Amino acid sequence: MSGSSEAPAVEASALTHPGRKRTTNQDAVGKKLTDRGGVFVVADGMGGHRTGELASKLAVKNILEVIEEDAPSPTLLLEAFEEANEAIYMAGQRPESRGMGTTATALALDLPYALIAHVGDSRAYLLRDGELTQLTQDHSWVAERLRQGLLTATEARNHRWRNVITNALGSFPDARVDLIGLKVQAGDRFLICSDGLSGVLEDAVLQEVLDTLPTDAAAERLVKLANEWGGPDNISVVTVAVNHIPKNHSPPPWALPLEGEEPVVLALGQEDESVQVQVLNSGHARGFWRRWRDFIFLIVYVALLLFVLLFNNR
Ligand code: CA
Repeated sequence: MSGSSEAPAVEASALTHPGRKRTTNQDAVGKKLTDRGGVFVVADGMGGHRTGELASKLAVKNILEVIEEDAPSPTLLLEAFEEANEAIYMAGQRPESRGMGTTATALALDLPYALIAHVGDSRAYLLRDGELTQLTQDHSWVAERLRQGLLTATEARNHRWRNVITNALGSFPDARVDLIGLKVQAGDRFLICSDGLSGVLEDAVLQEVLDTLPTDAAAERLVKLANEWGGPDNISVVTVAVNHIPKNHSPPPWALPLEGEEPVVLALGQEDESVQVQVLNSGHARGFWRRWRDFIFLIVYVALLLFVLLFNNR
């Protein structure tokens, strides 16, 4: 049968939707297909009036531009993120643009290899043999506590600080980028999404949709489901399917660590302990007062205890 060899090596679909509660869409998506794969980006911008939209668009534009120039490599991907970071950081120096920043998660395919560069709490997933794996770690306040065992997954999902992220492009003079690599197999599927999708739908739902629908229909279905579940935030989805691996490719030198079956962390841009927390939503205020309330209760409790002890000793 010649049917499967005529299908393109890679198919992809990129969608973004404002959701049902927000009037603007601060997310941006981008994709560029090449002979040996392509580049796919999701960015989730933040900041005041219009600046979030600008930040995510600048990220997608800069990342696609840099990677178009040459075949993907870890160095090139980091360079692309540095350029995006600088463009957003500079734009954010204007007084009216304070707090401007964006998440960015990019997948670069140079088959049979995949590289994922990542900043923030957008996500990249791999579906292989029907099983979904999250490739990226969220740079968020709740994800750090989850990794330290201080919160459960359910607590993290519902926590009032779940939208607080600890790393973003444009927030610091230098980008702090995680880099993950893996060797791709025919049949692999990737999902890149913003938290407007992953914060609403369970992993089991993502897995089932990716496993049963082609890329276009899967992206549409995921956006629809997130909206049916309330659509509280902007929703961005990029679905990528690897149909087959093109032949006659000598492995680039950087791909040497990726020959095993498992994804490999090539670089970690962020140390959990050294992050500055950025507070990005109004949930903060409640947490702040709650901490003070707990503190006042503690003082009153200690005072009562001392009073009782002193009174009893007389
Ligand atoms: Ca978001």
